[in-house]
Order: sequence, then structure tokens, then C-alpha cells
Amino acid sequence: MLETNDEQVILVTGGAGFLGTHLCRRLLTQGDTVICMDNFLTSSEANLGPLNDHPNFSVIQHDIIDPLPKNLFPTQIYNLACAASPRQYQKDPVHTLRTCVQGTFNLLELAVAQNARILQASTSEVYGDPKEHPQHESYHGNVNPVGVRSCYDEGKRCAETLISDYARTRGVTAKIARIFNTYGPGMAADDGRVISTLIHQMLQGEPLTVYGDGSQTRSLCYVDDMIKGLITLMNSADTFRGPVNLGNTEEISVLEIANLIIELAQKDSNIEFRPLPADDPTVRCPDITLAQHHLNWKPTVRFRQGLLQTYTHFLQKSQKEIQSVSTRLGT
Ligand code: NAD
Ligand code: UDP
Repeated sequence: MLETNDEQVILVTGGAGFLGTHLCRRLLTQGDTVICMDNFLTSSEANLGPLNDHPNFSVIQHDIIDPLPKNLFPTQIYNLACAASPRQYQKDPVHTLRTCVQGTFNLLELAVAQNARILQASTSEVYGDPKEHPQHESYHGNVNPVGVRSCYDEGKRCAETLISDYARTRGVTAKIARIFNTYGPGMAADDGRVISTLIHQMLQGEPLTVYGDGSQTRSLCYVDDMIKGLITLMNSADTFRGPVNLGNTEEISVLEIANLIIELAQKDSNIEFRPLPADDPTVRCPDITLAQHHLNWKPTVRFRQGLLQTYTHFLQKSQKEIQSVSTRLGT
């Protein structure tokens, strides 16, 4: 385990996104210097808000596919850069694939040059539509290599290969986190992911869109738990590379999620069933034995509790927006 009071200069790629902003904030709080690198593909500089005032925080607008600036001297690199929502990563699939492969390659070269450790934000999507349930890290997955989700799934799988080969042949201290669906305050309302979409629809008084019959399952992890897991993994023993599943084991169907949001909101709402997208995994739940054993990590926030916090956050944000519009209009 690294001494956590060692001074760290930490590069967070994708630092302006949902997980990235939470991670940057947490790292600054613990006294690290943080450089956020982002091309703002699925985020905006505004997301960084108050972090910009922090003396140990800086932002570089850059696409990780392109050669990296020469003046970077990180001790740790978190590679979070990549659109994570199916709607967004499918908009420009070639860019998504290049982000995963060329981008990770560029960061690995930087890790070699700087002798920095690197953590790759991989995903439960490497298991595809799993034939083993729950998913253990030893399961090699069931991924369609030519489908609409492949740019992301296969891109992330290839990034895992690159990381593993750099660790084996170039001595890089590397970590692979297989992140399962994560949610919480700070998600973009229009990113298309299930929690943000259904809460946003609830607040707009629109019907909640459930794809297929809603029987497909996900296991959702609250963002604070995930960030703790990522930081613990980054600072774990040099020899522990993973891949390691990080996620909550509380499995729930999409229809149950929709009904829970209706219950928490205490408002009437309709559910509108829509066609199931291609290759949508039917089940997903992590086996987190490895994380518990090597990292002494497990989630602490129950789904109902985290969902309520997320709903409250979205509600407060929408009330503030209404207030600011009415102030502007003088009403
Ligand atoms: P997000 O879309 O909110 O954030 C991704 C960030 O990466 C955005 O700020 C985006 O602008 C930036 N980005 C995208 N391509 C880039 C590029 N080529 N160069 C520089 N910046 C780029 O997504 P998130 O939920 O914060 O996910 C962060 C990471 O975690 C992603 O790599 C994702 O694959 C992984 N992950 C997330 C989840 C989840 O449930 N949130 C699950 C599994 C894996
Ligand atoms: N989903 C849904 N309605 C929506 C958005 C998503 O029913 O408005 C479903 C989607 O088909 C999938 C699950 O919710 O089965 C999780 O989708 P998300 O995009 O959040 O994550 P992923 O599919 O990558 O796990």
C-alpha cells in the first residue's frame, strides 16, 4: 500500500465527467495536486465549477487520442476518458474505439516515461451479455465483436490487454478497475443512462421510458462508494493489478427501478415501454470477493438510500433552474 501522505501529482483524464469530477474533488480534499485532462465530449468545463478556484487544480483541454503535451509529470494517472453512456459512445463509435485504444496507449507511454502508476477505468461491459451470473473476474465474457456496443466493449477489452502487456513487458505499475453501473449526483440529465433519464422524466412530468419489458437487471453502485474503491485500488500493493470488479451486489430490474422512482417521488407517473436496444445485457451483477479480499472494499450505500439522494439532488437543481429563469424574466 502506498503511503497516502506521499505528495502525488495526479492526472485525471475524463476529469470533467460524472466520475471524474467526484474523483478530482476527493483527491484535492486529501491534499493531492490534480490535473484534469478532458476534451469535453460528454461534459463541459462548467462541471468543474468550484474546483477551478482550488490552487492545486488545473485543467487541460485535450483529446487523449492526440499526442500528449510534453510538460506532464504525473506520479499517478487515472484514465477515465471515454463516453460511458451507450447513447453517447455510439454517436461516434470510431472515436470511442480510438479513445479506448490509442488514448490508453498514449497514457501508458506517459506512465513509462514518468514511472507513474496508472489506473484504467474498465467496465462490466467486458462481460457483454454474460452467461455466468454473477460475474467473477475469471469469466471471459460473451461480447458481440461487430454490434453497436462493440466500439465500447471491445475497446475497453483491448485497453485491458494493452495495460496488461505494458505491465508485463515494460514494468508499469497498472491497475484495472471493472466498474459496474454507477449513479449519483452530478450525472448529466440528458446522458441517456437509466437513473438520470428516469429521474429527469419524473421531474419533467413525462412518462418513464422502460426498454423491453424491464426485466433486465443491473446492480447499481453509489458514486461515493465507487470513488473510494478507485482510490483504494490505485494505492494498493504494486503487485495487485486486477482486473477487479467494483460495484454493488444489490441486483434490481429496470422495471423495479422505475417503480421505485415513482414511489420516492410520491407522484403519479406512467411507464412507457420501448423496444430493447440491440445487445442490451439481460443480467449484470458483480462478484466482489476479490475487491473485498485485496482492497478491503465493499459498497456501503444501499440502493434505495443512494437513489433518494440522487433524486433530491436532481430536484434541487431543477428548482434552482426554475428560480433563475423566473428571476431573469422578472416574474
Ligand atoms: P462521462 O461520460 O460522464 O465522463 C467521461 C469524460 O471523458 C467526459 O468528461 C468526456 O468529455 C471525456 N472524454 C471522452 N472521450 C475523451 C477523449 N478522447 N479525450 C479526453 N476526454 C474524453 O462518463 P463517466 O460515467 O464519468 O465514466 C468515466 C469512466 O468510467 C469511463 O471511462 C467509463 O467507461 C467508465 N465507466 C463508468 C461507468 C458508470 O456507470 N459511470 C461504468 C463502467 C465504466
Ligand atoms: N434503460 C431503460 N430506459 C432508459 C434508459 C435505459 O430501460 O431510458 C435500460 C437499458 O436498456 C439497460 C438499463 O436500463 O437495460 C441500463 O442502461 P444504461 O444505459 O444506464 O447502462 P448500460 O446499458 O450501459 O448498463
